[in-house]
Amino acid sequence: MTAPLAARLLQAWALLAGASIGSFLNVVIARLPAGQSIVTPRSRCPRCGAPIAWYDNVPVLSWLLLRARCRACAGRISARYPLVELAGGAAALLALRRHGPTGAAAAELALVALLLALALVDLDTWLLPHALTGPLLAGALLLAPLGVTPAGALGPAAAGAAIGVAVLAAVALLGRLAFRREAMGFGDVWLLGGLGGWLGVKALLPVVLLASLQGALVGLLLAAAGRLPRHASTDGWVPPESAVPFGPFLVAGALEWLYLSGWLARLAPPLALFR
Ligand SMILES: [Zn+2]
Repeated sequence: MTAPLAARLLQAWALLAGASIGSFLNVVIARLPAGQSIVTPRSRCPRCGAPIAWYDNVPVLSWLLLRARCRACAGRISARYPLVELAGGAAALLALRRHGPTGAAAAELALVALLLALALVDLDTWLLPHALTGPLLAGALLLAPLGVTPAGALGPAAAGAAIGVAVLAAVALLGRLAFRREAMGFGDVWLLGGLGGWLGVKALLPVVLLASLQGALVGLLLAAAGRLPRHASTDGWVPPESAVPFGPFLVAGALEWLYLSGWLARLAPPLALFR
C-alpha cells in the first residue's frame, strides 16, 4: 500500500509546485515587459496597489474564494491568473506522468513554463523579450548533452537551434525587403531557434506547419469577425493591419508537437519521420 500512497503524494506535490510556478509566471508576464523587478516588491493589486497577503495569493483557490475581486478595492481580477496557475499545475502533473520523477520531467516543466510566459507576453505586448528567449535557447543547448530534452543529444539540438534561427531570420529579412516594413519580429527568430534546440531539428517543420495553419485560421476568423487586435507594442512598432502575433502560435505548435506527436504519427504515419 505504501507505493501508491507515495505516488499520490508525489502527484499532489507536483500539482502544488506547478501551480506555484504558474503563480510566479503571472508575475513575470505582468512585470517583465514593463521592465520591473520580478522579485520585489511583493505582489500588489494592479488597480489599487494594495499588497496581496499570502492567504489571498494561494494559486487558484484565492481567486475562487475572493470571487475574482481584489479584497481592498473590489476591482476585477482577470481569470487569466488562475488559468495560468492551473496550466502550471497541469504541466507539472503531465511531466511527472510522462517521465517519472526525473531530470527529463524537470526540463519539460521548465520548457513549458518559459513557453507559457513567452506566449502571453507576446499576446500582451507583441514582444518576445530576450530575458525569456535567451534562457530558452541557452537551456536547450546546455541540457541537450544530458539527454533530458526531447532533442535527445547536442547534435540535433544545435542543428535545430541553428536552422530555426536561420530560417526565420531569412523570412524576416525577405519580408522586410519585400514589404519595406517589419513582417516578422526578430523575437520570433530567437523563439524558433529555442524551439529547434529543445525539440530537435526534425521537429522544426511540423512545429512551423502547425503554427502557420493555426495562425492563418485564427487570423481569418478574427478578420471575418471584424475584430483584429491592433495596438502598438511598447517600443512603438505598430503591427500591420491584418496581423496577429506569431509567437503564441509557434508556442501552440511546439506544445502540440511535444505532447501529441506520438498520437499524430499514429494518425498520419509519415509524420513519424519528424519525431
Ligand atoms: Zn485592488
